[in-house]
Amino acid sequence: MGKAFCDGCGRKVTVAGGVANLWTFGERDGSDGTALSLEFEDGTTKLLCYPCIEALPDEPEPADVEALGSEGG
Ligand SMILES: [Zn+2]
Repeated sequence: MGKAFCDGCGRKVTVAGGVANLWTFGERDGSDGTALSLEFEDGTTKLLCYPCIEALPDEPEPADVEALGSEGG
């Protein structure tokens, strides 16, 4: 493992780690392909790159992730 694709924009990303410490960015602000897994209340897990994560609202839903790829901002 290690290589994957962002569920939001589809770009190739590197998985930084597991599903731990999801929302602890700050020390890493580089959008150089690092991604994080985001788990929703319904059990859905999405892999997202930093630009996509930053584009999501404070309380994202799976539909918000899907919208990332469709709106093409
Ligand atoms: Zn993305």
